[in-house]
Amino acid sequence: MADVFKITKIEITHHQLPLDPPFPASWDTQPRTKFPATIVRIHDNAGHVGIGSGDAMYGFADYQRYFVGEDPLALARHNAVLSNIEFHAGRPWPVDSALWDLAGKILNEPVWKMVGGVSNRIRTYASSGVHRPVDQMVEVARRALEMGFPALKVRFGRPSLNEDLGVLAAIRAEVGNQLELMVDCNQGWRMPWDIQAPWNLKHALEVAQELQALSVYWMEEPLHRGDYDGYAALRKQARGLRIAGGEMTREPYEFRELLTRGGLDVFQPDCVCSMGIGGLKDLAVQVVDAGHIFTPHTWGNGIGVLANAHLTAGTVGTAGAHFLEYPLDGEEWSLARRDYPLLEPVRVDAEGYINLTDAPGLGFELNEDLLRRTHSQVATFA
Ligand SMILES: [Mg+2]
Repeated sequence: MADVFKITKIEITHHQLPLDPPFPASWDTQPRTKFPATIVRIHDNAGHVGIGSGDAMYGFADYQRYFVGEDPLALARHNAVLSNIEFHAGRPWPVDSALWDLAGKILNEPVWKMVGGVSNRIRTYASSGVHRPVDQMVEVARRALEMGFPALKVRFGRPSLNEDLGVLAAIRAEVGNQLELMVDCNQGWRMPWDIQAPWNLKHALEVAQELQALSVYWMEEPLHRGDYDGYAALRKQARGLRIAGGEMTREPYEFRELLTRGGLDVFQPDCVCSMGIGGLKDLAVQVVDAGHIFTPHTWGNGIGVLANAHLTAGTVGTAGAHFLEYPLDGEEWSLARRDYPLLEPVRVDAEGYINLTDAPGLGFELNEDLLRRTHSQVATFA
């Protein structure tokens, strides 16, 4: 093994898994016929390879020279450079999780221990993603219960609020209080072509009152991510109902605004989209110390689920996170689809926990054969 480690190369490849039938994501007005994945591999001079995945990383080649030749274990330095690249270009955060995976492989330690070692397991919630008719949504809830999940998230955004509420009421009637229910309003951001305005405070409050009556655990993204005044007012007026958000919030100062203005009960930054593991491990502790919940968004492939599971289990555990998002919804969003870049999918146990091992880094192997077969020049949803 080398005495002094150096980063020698960063490789970025794109892949697209064909989806037949398509995945009609509730937050996307166009059914998805492909599931893109971009894989980042960071090599060192001793033969270790750290792996990350998240955004498409277009244009990152221009910035690789700021990493090649550097000490892979200088994680805080790399996180600071990535913050600068975030300002100049797109979201480079898969590089951060790849570097943590690489550092774990060099040090022979799992990332959950490197970030704090609070716990190696984290309780999850089943995160559904399709607007189905009432009877099928009830079936989704029944299946989540049978699989041992303690909680289920459903998506709002059907043509009328009454339809959304009808689904939620039917699920509550079926499962009683055996499942906690979360509602994602998906008003924080939009797909590129979708120019519909987000909800305003008045509408969000009306919905919040209905969710309170159905004992919903949290209401997610009821407003645009930057509507700090709206969030603070909603949270004050919807007392008792937890307000969640922040999955596409990017910068530390934005989270500071949300924290100091009292806008959120539940903070959901995703380490492969914002600030990286290195930037979020301190925020996680700050959020929980302030009496709030820290539980990342994880929608994407299993590498992102794992990176966020290590971050969350290792820093705040289930006591600080309550539940971590586990995307799963019928054949449209199966484990085989979600985790196709991985040799083994990220599973939960019979109580809905992800159990992280002592394997170094993020503890997964790539399905190189399937990645070869799904190789692509682009990473798009259609
Ligand atoms: Mg969400």
